[in-house]
Amino acid sequence: MARIIAIANQKGGVGKTTTAVNLAASLASMGRRVLLVDMDPQGNATMGVGVDKNALEHTGCDVLLDNAPFAQCVVRVPEPAPGFDLLPSNGDMTAAEVGLMQAEARERTLAVRLAAHAEAYEVILLDCPPSLNMLTVNALVAADGVLIPIQCEYYALEGLSALLDTIEQIRTSRNGALRIDGILRTMHDPRNNLSNQVSTQLVTHFKGQVYRTIVPRNVRLAEAPSHGLPVLEYDRSSRGALAYLALAGEVMRRREPAPNAA
Ligand code: ADP
Ligand code: MG
Repeated sequence: MARIIAIANQKGGVGKTTTAVNLAASLASMGRRVLLVDMDPQGNATMGVGVDKNALEHTGCDVLLDNAPFAQCVVRVPEPAPGFDLLPSNGDMTAAEVGLMQAEARERTLAVRLAAHAEAYEVILLDCPPSLNMLTVNALVAADGVLIPIQCEYYALEGLSALLDTIEQIRTSRNGALRIDGILRTMHDPRNNLSNQVSTQLVTHFKGQVYRTIVPRNVRLAEAPSHGLPVLEYDRSSRGALAYLALAGEVMRRREPAPNAA
């Protein structure tokens, strides 16, 4: 049964997509069967693994609105990325958000669609859009863990309480299996005092919920998407690549799959 991890933070630019793509690639390189689901109409994760979002016949939108079977919508990421599957996204995903608003069981749609494929994968990663909209709610209802990337910068904690409230609300009303898998410190610069302060503050406040792995600010991570490659293929020895390999190990060790994850 796949572990389903939503990568969520309604703030944009905190490293959600970078984490989704590179965690997927790192887990795949360790031999895990991985599905990456791009939930963001911007399609950054889709482009980031070398799939042209403008040339797609089907996307996750068709899965959510039941316009096409899952198997027709999912794609294998192109070589040389380590093999994993992608449920891609583009602007059509906005239609899915609107369509879901009118659907019955609108919050549970993604959970229901993924349940049929939970045996085919060990890990399913959901790259959420930068808002607490119906797509993010669908991801949180489908997930058993939430990975929250937080940028080690000023205002890092702004908006975090709204996200934690939403997670708690969904846990009590729709998805009792939902847990915070971990808080991930991203774009950390050890030479910057503020970056160190935010990092320490997160550990003080969230204690064991913070991953030990810290993702450094690393230019290779920023460059890799423009080549349509996970950083592991773009520059395997970069500090960014090593951090995401370490994170993959930590994510797999961190928690046994929830017994009731569905
Ligand atoms: P989100 O999905 O939360 O909006 P992204 O993952 O797209 O955030 O990251 C925002 C920008 O920051 C992108 O241009 C990305 O390449 C860059 N970026 C993300 N993580 C790092 C990092 N650790 N070091 C340097 N640049 C990064
Ligand atoms: Mg993103």
